[in-house]
Amino acid sequence: MSGLLDELYRLQERLRFVQSRERERDTVPAELTEVDSAFREKLDTVARLKQRLLEAELENRRASAELADQQEKQKKYQAQLRNVQSSREYSAVLNEMDVVEKQIRATEDRVLALEEELETSRAELKGREESLPKETQEHEERMKDWRSAQRVINEELESARTEIKDLESRIRPRERAEFQRLLEKKGGLAVVRVVSNSCSACHVKVRPAAMQALKAGNEIIYCDSCRRILYYDPHNP
Ligand SMILES: [Zn+2]
Repeated sequence: MSGLLDELYRLQERLRFVQSRERERDTVPAELTEVDSAFREKLDTVARLKQRLLEAELENRRASAELADQQEKQKKYQAQLRNVQSSREYSAVLNEMDVVEKQIRATEDRVLALEEELETSRAELKGREESLPKETQEHEERMKDWRSAQRVINEELESARTEIKDLESRIRPRERAEFQRLLEKKGGLAVVRVVSNSCSACHVKVRPAAMQALKAGNEIIYCDSCRRILYYDPHNP
C-alpha cells in the first residue's frame, strides 16, 4: 500500500509539474512582450512612413500640375491685359488676375509645405531603415534565447511524460480511475501529505486511529474533512 501511495503521490507531482511547465512555456515573458511590441512598432512606423511618402509625392505632383495650370492662366490674362479695348474690360481682366494670383500663392505654399514634409520624411525613413537590420538582428537574438528556453522546457516535459506513463502502467486501473476522479474533483490535489498529524490540504487533525492505520500502511485512508487520500511519509512526518 505504501508503494502505491508513493507512486500516486509522485504521479500527482509529475502531473502538476507538467501543467505548470506547459503554462510557463506558453506564456511569453513580460519583458519579451514589451521588446516584441517595441520591435513591431518600429516596423509599423517604417511602413507608415513609406505609405505617407507615397501619398505626399502624389499630392506634390498634383499640386505642381495645378500650379502650372494657374501660371498658364496668369500668362493668358497678362496677354489679354495688353489687348483690352475698354476700361470695363480692363478691370474685369484685372479681377480675374487677382483671383488667379491668390490661387498661385496658395498652391505655392502647399507645394513648399509638401516639399518640406517630403524632405523630413525621407531623412527619417533613411535613418530608420539604416538601423533596422541591427535592430532586427538584436530582436532575433532575444527571441532565440526565449525559444531555447522553450526547448529546455519541452525536454523536461518529455521526460516527465515518460515517467507519468511508466507510473500509470504500474498502478491498477481501478486505483488509477479513483485517483483521476479525485484529481478532477479536488483541483489537482488528490493525495496530500500528513504533516504534524494534520491534513496538509485542509489542516484538519487526523484521528489517532486513522494515524495508526496510515502508519500500518495496509489501506487507503481519506481525510475526514476534505476526503482526499492521506499520504504519510515516515521519512518526512
Ligand atoms: Zn483534508
